[in-house]
Amino acid sequence: MEVREPGGATVAMGEPVAAGAACVAEPPRIRRLDESVVNRIAAGEVIQRPVSAVKELVENSLDAGSTSISVVVKDGGLKLIQVSDNGHGIRSEDLPILCERHTTSKLSAYEDLQSIKSMGFRGEALASMTYVGHVTVTTITEGQLHGYRVSYRDGVMEDEPKPCAAVRGTQIMVENLFYNMIARRKTLQNANDDYAKIVDLISRFAIHNSSVSFSCRKHGVNRADVHTVTTLSKLDAIKTIYGISVARDLMEITVSDDNPSRSIFEMNGFISNANYTAKKTTMVLFINDRLVECTALKRAVEVAYSSTLPKASRPFIYMSIKLPSEHVDVNIHPTKREVSLLNQESLIETIQNAVESKLMNCNTTRTFQTQTVNCAPASNFTARKDTEISPSVSGKKSQKVPVNQMVRTDSRDPFGRLHAYWQDCPASQHEKKSDLASVRIAVRQRRNPRESADLTSIHELLNEIDQNIHPGLLEIVKNCTYIGLADEVFALLQHNTHLYLVNVVNVSKELMYQQVIRRFAHFNAIQLSEPAPLPELLILALKDEDLESGGDDDELRKKIAEMNTELLKQKGEMLEEYFCININQDGNLTRLPLILEQHTPDMDHIPEFLLSLANDVDWENEKECFQAISAVLGNFYAMHPPVLPNPAGNGIDFYKKINGKAASIDDAGNEWTGTDNHGQDDLDQELLAEAETAWAQREWNIQHVLFPSMRLFLKPPKSMATDGTFVQVASLEKLYKIFERC
Ligand code: ADP
Ligand code: MG
Repeated sequence: MEVREPGGATVAMGEPVAAGAACVAEPPRIRRLDESVVNRIAAGEVIQRPVSAVKELVENSLDAGSTSISVVVKDGGLKLIQVSDNGHGIRSEDLPILCERHTTSKLSAYEDLQSIKSMGFRGEALASMTYVGHVTVTTITEGQLHGYRVSYRDGVMEDEPKPCAAVRGTQIMVENLFYNMIARRKTLQNANDDYAKIVDLISRFAIHNSSVSFSCRKHGVNRADVHTVTTLSKLDAIKTIYGISVARDLMEITVSDDNPSRSIFEMNGFISNANYTAKKTTMVLFINDRLVECTALKRAVEVAYSSTLPKASRPFIYMSIKLPSEHVDVNIHPTKREVSLLNQESLIETIQNAVESKLMNCNTTRTFQTQTVNCAPASNFTARKDTEISPSVSGKKSQKVPVNQMVRTDSRDPFGRLHAYWQDCPASQHEKKSDLASVRIAVRQRRNPRESADLTSIHELLNEIDQNIHPGLLEIVKNCTYIGLADEVFALLQHNTHLYLVNVVNVSKELMYQQVIRRFAHFNAIQLSEPAPLPELLILALKDEDLESGGDDDELRKKIAEMNTELLKQKGEMLEEYFCININQDGNLTRLPLILEQHTPDMDHIPEFLLSLANDVDWENEKECFQAISAVLGNFYAMHPPVLPNPAGNGIDFYKKINGKAASIDDAGNEWTGTDNHGQDDLDQELLAEAETAWAQREWNIQHVLFPSMRLFLKPPKSMATDGTFVQVASLEKLYKIFERC
């Protein structure tokens, strides 16, 4: 019981109040809310912004079987939203309860939700609008001489319906939206972008419902911002709405699955090709004809794009997915913006794979670019539809690789340093010109890509890869989760309940090899900032070999290097055309192929790459020649451990300074460090930082470049099951049993 003191303060009777202690508040009373308050709160949830009201109204029109829907909007929808349709109309006897909460013609029992085809089912939308705005309905049903008009507030009719002249269908007007929700109205008034949202919404509906004509315009303006005529083709609808420039860059895609243990669905739609570039992804998604959003699917598709077409990684996507209605839960979101699907993960994966392979096959008209290894802007050359070549200068940050990560900067061995060839100095005028010329050649070559890829030898090599797949490993590769690096060579993977160690070097070597064969004659280029002289690099490689064999003959090395340079120069045309390995007349390497997007090889391995290119290839037999070159490239691009020892763990000793110099490794690979009492301060910080960057970069690459690409592209050969590339280390079930016993 409460009494009010003369001073106005309230104290509770019968409860001792300790002097000086904080007064414990009495629990507030629980009361039943007034129904109008409940309804207004609920309404605020269903109708969050003007665009949500438009969505509900258009969905009602579609549910009513309309073939023409027009929308008029004033003041971003706050003053007026008017949706007119030519659907079946509303019976006059239903008008009194039309806007009450939970009145609907679409659902009667809860079980109906399982098989519901209509977009509405809760009977909430119109009611909600009457709690946050003024609603007027004009409607006529088939065969009636006149229609009715009636206005609603807070769920009820303001007056009896008035007979009026009407054209077929229903027109619903919502005026003064949020007139009684001051804060929301203010925020929306300031936001000022609701009309754009409405136009976007109608555009999406118009693509999917291409047999319905839509229009959307501002009140008082004659010209509509969306206007479609009834057309049977979705592509035509896209052309009308988004323009020819979008429609011409689209490819049709269909995929389905009917395996109950995975997922059952059909998807068809359009996705953009390599020529389409935009600032953000447009994803128009309908699931069982409902306009929904699915962030997981959108991400999956974006990943497919960025791994195959990084330049076109903000795609335009229209997808319509149909599943058995009992596999979709439509009732998980107040505005029905999201739905939940049975076996969502496998469905997404199947679609991702389909997108992926579609993109892989669309390279004939792709945009490509050269890439520099220094900080100068990269030159981009765009070949659109094989007609225009428009050079533009723009450096794409994500593809620039800092010089220190591309080269060996081993201060101990001046001979081993490749700095000389990779400095940040701008290319000479002459070089620029010849770059341009050779890129033009590359453009021309790509105009007829089929011709070169049609070589039987390449087909045979591709078939061999396909026929040699180990199905069990393929399943692991496709569906594994990357856990982390176990050591310098092995990564830990989880597949179902099993853990595997995977040899990263072997896997990446094979992946690169297979990619070279697949991309044969269709490579983008990695442009070296400075031409790298073959003879010197070959001498370096020979020195390394001699170190191993104990031989030491400078003259002989020089001779061999010269002969090899000549050989590679002779083969230059073929290397350039098919593998994008450019060796110019002066015997310099200027360009390398881009085998996996976002991945450049470790330039420390260039000498050994060139040496094996010269030594290990049988140039006589076409197929063997291509196979060997691909294998040599695969080895060069594989993710070997960096040359500098790993500073984490024991490798740190290598960076301790001895008389101002870092430690070195003797011929047998044993590292010596002098005395052991060097403190932290004696570390060669520069070298250490460089090593840390190299190792961190490699780890990042393994996780973010190698594994995603491996899931998409690698077809693991049978040999990998037995040669130690994949080793099962634990089964979680067994571990569980062991722990259970503990
Ligand atoms: P729901 O769509 O969930 O049934 P609504 O509040 O959106 O609930 O609509 C209530 C009912 O009003 C619908 O079930 C439908 O019978 C009728 N209705 C609403 N809009 C239209 C329309 N444009 N044409 C015909 N009937 C309509
Ligand atoms: Mg509805």
